[in-house]
Amino acid sequence: MPRTTTAASVPKALRDAWLLAALEREKIVPPAALEALRKEAPEWVADAVVSKGLATAEQIVALAARAAHVPVADIASGDPAAVQFVPEAVARQYAALPLGASNRVVKIATANPLDLDAEQALGFVAGRQVVFQYAAPQALFKRFDEVYRPERPIERLVGGLATRAGVAGTDAAAPAAAPGGDAPAARLVEATLADAVRERASDIHFEPVEQGLVIRYRIDGVLKEVMRVPRSAAGSVVRRLKVLAKLDIADPLHPHEGRATARIEGKPWDLLVATAPVARYGEQVSVRLVDQTAPPPTLAALGLWPDEQARLERLLAHREGVVLVAGPRGSGKIVTLYAALDKVRAAGGVDAATVEDPVAYHLSGIRQADVDEKRGASFGAALRATLKEDVGTILLGEIRDGETAALAWQAALGGHLLLTAVRTNDLPSAVARLVSLGIEPPRIAAAAKGVITQRMVRRLCPRCAENADLGGLPQAAHPDRSFDRPVTIRKAKGCAQCGFSGFNGRLALQELLAVDGTVAELLASAAPAEKLAEAGRAAGMRTLWEAGLRRVWAGETTYEELVRVVGEPARAAAAVAPAPTAGQAAAVEAAAPAPAPVVLVADDDAAMRALFATILKPQGFAVAEAADGVEALEQAQRLAPAILLLDMEMPRLDGFGVLEALRRRLAGRAVPVIVVTVKDDAATEARCIELGAEDYLTKPIQPSSLVVRIRAVLRRVGAQASWPRS
Ligand SMILES: [Zn+2]
Repeated sequence: MPRTTTAASVPKALRDAWLLAALEREKIVPPAALEALRKEAPEWVADAVVSKGLATAEQIVALAARAAHVPVADIASGDPAAVQFVPEAVARQYAALPLGASNRVVKIATANPLDLDAEQALGFVAGRQVVFQYAAPQALFKRFDEVYRPERPIERLVGGLATRAGVAGTDAAAPAAAPGGDAPAARLVEATLADAVRERASDIHFEPVEQGLVIRYRIDGVLKEVMRVPRSAAGSVVRRLKVLAKLDIADPLHPHEGRATARIEGKPWDLLVATAPVARYGEQVSVRLVDQTAPPPTLAALGLWPDEQARLERLLAHREGVVLVAGPRGSGKIVTLYAALDKVRAAGGVDAATVEDPVAYHLSGIRQADVDEKRGASFGAALRATLKEDVGTILLGEIRDGETAALAWQAALGGHLLLTAVRTNDLPSAVARLVSLGIEPPRIAAAAKGVITQRMVRRLCPRCAENADLGGLPQAAHPDRSFDRPVTIRKAKGCAQCGFSGFNGRLALQELLAVDGTVAELLASAAPAEKLAEAGRAAGMRTLWEAGLRRVWAGETTYEELVRVVGEPARAAAAVAPAPTAGQAAAVEAAAPAPAPVVLVADDDAAMRALFATILKPQGFAVAEAADGVEALEQAQRLAPAILLLDMEMPRLDGFGVLEALRRRLAGRAVPVIVVTVKDDAATEARCIELGAEDYLTKPIQPSSLVVRIRAVLRRVGAQASWPRS
């Protein structure tokens, strides 16, 4: 059954018909008026009763909540960040607004708490158990406009441009005015750029969907939809963006990358523009906004606490070796590298250079190599050229290939200090990545001075954050005795200052493993991750989760934000799966060991596949791999895996193709699929679910939640398979 229903299939009359009976029972409305209401069949009885003056809004809300046996919702005090758990279209369809969420439960205000279908659908999209409260439909729909659709219709956005003089191209090669019919598109693009800058966005995404173009801003690391451009205008907006970046408008079938510069709000900005084809709907475009005048970050920009910063500074006192930052995309690795470089230079390490793709911050007086792999300037080549200059400290933006890894290690062991990063989730996967790139464990141990696993969480907006109760946190997340600051739990509210998100800016959480003698020995002998963690903790290391909890207790961020970014710690995740009773456990021990369920991982990125294997094998799964869609189908046929983890963007056959083929060819031998993709948009997700995917996860994945979701799907399909066939 398709999970998404079109608007037309939703009954548009008397959606809260159950309220009529309650009105009759409690004799609030005269029988004649009630009869008239029945005939009239408005979409919402609750709204109609109030607008006809038959009862007050408060009366109806109280009556409805009583009738449905749910509490009255206080929608104004909901956590605005909770809307991320339910896409706007789904929220509107079911008149359901998420107010808050914990690891397992999502609290939802709805005008229809008796709708079991809604409860099921909402629970599915939020991945949590639904707890309903009642709110009047009118109030809900008004709130949707506030939390989902920021108060910025296109007209106002474009209209404001004339007076604000937002954007002026500084690039002589880009035509100042677009030809003829594209002029409104050019104005829309300029207005969007200026608006995004005002909203502190780091990126703008233009994503084509069936109805047109969805525009989203990334603010403090979180995507926020700002508007939808009708289909008729979508093409010219994309064309305008490509013209700005001097990209080939005649070729929509291949990815393109380009740059432009523009004056926005009086300052010079770099626009890094990337396009990619999207099946059926055209091209998606992303624009990264880089403030050319922004000063390079210092350690203060990370928002570390004094004891944390002292640990980092001790690490940066080294003058040779490798300091490695690990984290997924958007975890602030480059900010930390620049802050570290700033510290090293201030302490006398002035002979420095950077090698990046692209240069993130312009520093005066040092060599900065810009990697451009398409033009043949690889990380390896740029690093080799930099090493010919006599520099002591090198900021190397990322290690992503064997050649760069080998050069970096050679330089570090030869007396250079390398500040660099790998795009992996945690310490064990960072080490695994280096090994897969050809750096043997003893060499890792010989050069590494420290590994910093990092995430960025959003900082509560100081203007609107509200005090909250310690009781809202799970017992395991309550402050322990070692916490020596005042406990001030706060929650997100939202105000004009923070774009109604409740958050403003970000701060870094770090898990810093300093490589001392003990840790070096463990690294060299490829000891298991737990041993490393143990040694690190003995030397004062805090996990990301622990570092984050301190920020929750100090009121700098929220528990929900910590869970969103870091994921639940393994203990909590394990508790989600029902623990076997003593009897069951004994039975399992007595029986012969069951074969490990096979997880087939289809992803064209070998490092990603290796990462999945690293996560899943210790959890008792066997892992098979496929490097593209065609291979995925072959393996699925041959191995009949318990589950398929499917990437969407793969060569030969993409994820949609695999889902379609599975549905057609392997009917009767259903392989449950979890889509794991970087595409975090509702349209793709809905399409995948329609095509039969069981679940949908966006990268970067949290190992604990991946395992929990896999187990959940296996439980679900396992239960279905064991039902008697009729
Ligand atoms: Zn605020």
